Amino acid sequence: MVQDRYDIVIIGAGPAGSVAARFAAQNGASVLMLERDREPGIPVRCAEGVSHNGIAPFIDIDERWIASRIEIAKLHAPNGETAKMYNNGLGYVLERRVFDTALCELAAKHGAHLITKADALDLLWEKEKITGVKYKYCGEIKTVKCDIVIGADGVESRVGRWAGIKTAVRLEDIDTCVQYTLADIDIEENTCEFYFGNNVSPGGYVWIFPKSDHTANVGIGLSGHLSHKKGPKKYLDEFVEKRFPDAKITYTVYGGVPTSATLKEIVRDNIMLVGDAARQVNPITGGGVVQGMIAASIAGKVAADAVREKRFDAKFLKKYSSEWEKKLGKTQRTMFTMKEKFLTMSDERFNNIVRFCQKIPKDKFGLKVLFTEAVKGDPKLMVDVAKAFVMSKLKRK
Ligand SMILES: Cc1cc2nc3c(=O)[nH]c(=O)nc-3n(C[C@H](O)[C@H](O)[C@H](O)COP(=O)(O)OP(=O)(O)OC[C@H]3O[C@@H](n4cnc5c(N)ncnc54)[C@H](O)[C@@H]3O)c2cc1C
Repeated sequence: MVQDRYDIVIIGAGPAGSVAARFAAQNGASVLMLERDREPGIPVRCAEGVSHNGIAPFIDIDERWIASRIEIAKLHAPNGETAKMYNNGLGYVLERRVFDTALCELAAKHGAHLITKADALDLLWEKEKITGVKYKYCGEIKTVKCDIVIGADGVESRVGRWAGIKTAVRLEDIDTCVQYTLADIDIEENTCEFYFGNNVSPGGYVWIFPKSDHTANVGIGLSGHLSHKKGPKKYLDEFVEKRFPDAKITYTVYGGVPTSATLKEIVRDNIMLVGDAARQVNPITGGGVVQGMIAASIAGKVAADAVREKRFDAKFLKKYSSEWEKKLGKTQRTMFTMKEKFLTMSDERFNNIVRFCQKIPKDKFGLKVLFTEAVKGDPKLMVDVAKAFVMSKLKRK
């Protein structure tokens, strides 16, 4: 049963929250997760695309939460030309409803507790020290005491702000997204598709992520500062009308994706932030599931070490921020610089990149080649990109 005190309380049971819970519990801490929705993973606000290499270290692959397998990425230039990328490793389109619950079950297996329909309202403080969480459960206000709070409450995170951490990002660093799950459509097997260009999605892209041979998540992300004139829904509706005129919409998602670098401050005394709450998302792809899980695994382990050593001060907890910085934080900053370039890229440049990609042999065409071509003409950025790729490859081994 739920206790009134835990070593660690985690707010949010998305991928970041449940991986943090699992690693903390596995390393000896008592852990409670608070999730405000009635079930983890619902409602889904995600295109559900992940790489096999990204998730495999955290959970055994299970057909229950795999909607489809992806082997090819097809790029559409503004002028209609296309290039297919084969050399990027296996990917999946998930069933996040099932996947998020599976991650929670894994945390529970290692001893973490979860309460759903538990909406965190504020932090508890004693003598300017965080000592727990106030939350609402089935209409009743409750409190739970702890030594460390982990904020894993997603893109709309409030936990950081409650702790006095500056969590706001610039309008241009939040993508506004709309996505439909479409049924009764013709799509290419094992292929994710991406459309670029100012008429389709200025400063962003349209994606098609197949969920079966006749259904797909089809969505768009526009940089916040570019979406006030003509919003993402209008662009997406135009796209769907053209490409899938007979499609039926079975699910609609509206959501934001942080596309900044990681927040400068992700720990303070007695508190840590992970996942979207810490802005640990790939600024170019908008993918945050794997990055959030990697960060959370570090945070969960450091939090458990803190419990063992009885050291809950920011100085100790910074082991998490420094390890994150080494593992992916630096790479994320490089990606952020690249994103700034992408935002202003002309249609002609996209056409040239896709034309260049068409000439690359099938077995050589991967993301590294694509990004290197995209930053051509900017030698410093080229070196940074090359370094970032080498480092991320080495670290994933
Ligand atoms: C349209 C769209 C498409 C995307 N596509 C992809 C993709 O294809 N691949 C990819 O990797 N990423 C994608 N992302 C990003 C991805 O969804 C996030 O990066 C990822 O879900 C972050 O995980 P998280 O655990 O940090 O946060 P979340 O998954 O958002 O989980 C946060 C949890 O905290 C809970 N919560 C919030 N506040 C409270 C509170 N006060 N009390 C209790 N619980 C609370 C929420 O209910 C939620 O369950 C997409 C995002 C959007 C919007």
